[in-house]
Amino acid sequence: MSQFSVQDGELIVGGQPLSLLAERVGQTPFYAYDRGLLRARVAALRQALPARMKLHYAMKANPMPALVALMAGLVDGIDVASAGELKVALDAGADPAEISFAGPGKRDAELRQAVAAGVLINVESFRELPVLAEAAARFGLPARVAVRVNPDFELKGSGMKMSGGPKQFGIDTEQMPALLAEIGRLGLGFEGFHLFAGSQNLRAESICEAQQKSFELALRLADSAPGPVKFLNLGGGFGIPYFPGELPLDLAPISANLQQLSERAAAELPQAELVIELGRYLVGEAGVYVSRIVDRKVSRGQVFLVTDGGLHHHLAASGNFGQVIRKNYPVTIGNKTRSSERETASVVGPLCTPLDVLADRMELPVADIGDLAVVFQSGAYGLTASPGGFLGHPACVEVLV
Ligand SMILES: *Cc1c(COP(=O)(O)O)cnc(C)c1O
Repeated sequence: MSQFSVQDGELIVGGQPLSLLAERVGQTPFYAYDRGLLRARVAALRQALPARMKLHYAMKANPMPALVALMAGLVDGIDVASAGELKVALDAGADPAEISFAGPGKRDAELRQAVAAGVLINVESFRELPVLAEAAARFGLPARVAVRVNPDFELKGSGMKMSGGPKQFGIDTEQMPALLAEIGRLGLGFEGFHLFAGSQNLRAESICEAQQKSFELALRLADSAPGPVKFLNLGGGFGIPYFPGELPLDLAPISANLQQLSERAAAELPQAELVIELGRYLVGEAGVYVSRIVDRKVSRGQVFLVTDGGLHHHLAASGNFGQVIRKNYPVTIGNKTRSSERETASVVGPLCTPLDVLADRMELPVADIGDLAVVFQSGAYGLTASPGGFLGHPACVEVLV
């Protein structure tokens, strides 16, 4: 389960054999993200999306500055979730007009920064409105706002649900008339709506259903909006396969559904630009996490490959980032992928905690000290979603290759 090619048994990353790349990087552990795979993923998705549909990159999935700069040139906009991410996006050369800023608990200073930068702010609380109005008046700039709605439905079958029921995200549908009236009263620059129902979904029919319902809801809300809807972000949630038995998302039905919605939008919300925002789906499969085996131990018959990397850099692969039951990410020995000698082994990290497991009793090529353990599907929610300071081991490096 990997997009990467193999030559003479060795994984090729960014056009280079992995052991040479490790020498070039100069240390393990490291993350490597493959430019070619990132470009190919965006191109394939564009092929499937209606021509008028905009594609945004949600950079919390992977905020590495060089990667964000690459993505900014490939997609139509960048979605940020903090002033820190906003800085990275602006530094990367992303057009402020095409940046949107979502997240609960935006600080006053962050809201002012967003107004000053001229980005679109996805409002998630009544509290944000007077702060935005004050900043707009002070800077003589419009406060560009869309409203993030917490609808009364959820995205079925998602790894993480982010709408439906009581949520800290967005504004409940029931409160929308009052919020929209307040936006009008304060003279904020209303642009549209943002709906984001959930994450890591592999069921096309659930994604289509959520998109349909989001569109219908936006149509209803448009009636009480203080201005025309120019922006309608239908969310994303496209998942990638991580575990045995999971299949890649089938884009065909999603493509057909978005085509239909795009046609309806042209008729029913003629000024609206339709957007989807994706993180993991764009970058997750283009990255590997590489660590070096520093010890090989056998305990009561079980083989442990102890590496210099672990959950402090890759919490998700250890099973501690949102999983309910721990399952193995796809793992291999990157310099021996085609070896016919295989064994059942566990790949663990150097931390003094039993949670520090990268692969639990997996069938792998037989490995020795010095070999390279590779975790696939590591381009999203890797380094910045991990507790890097835990136990004081050396920092990890990231390269875009
Ligand atoms: C996390 C998040 C995303 C990205 O989710 P993925 O599962 O990585 O695609 C997009 N939009 C919002 C609002 C988010 O919070």
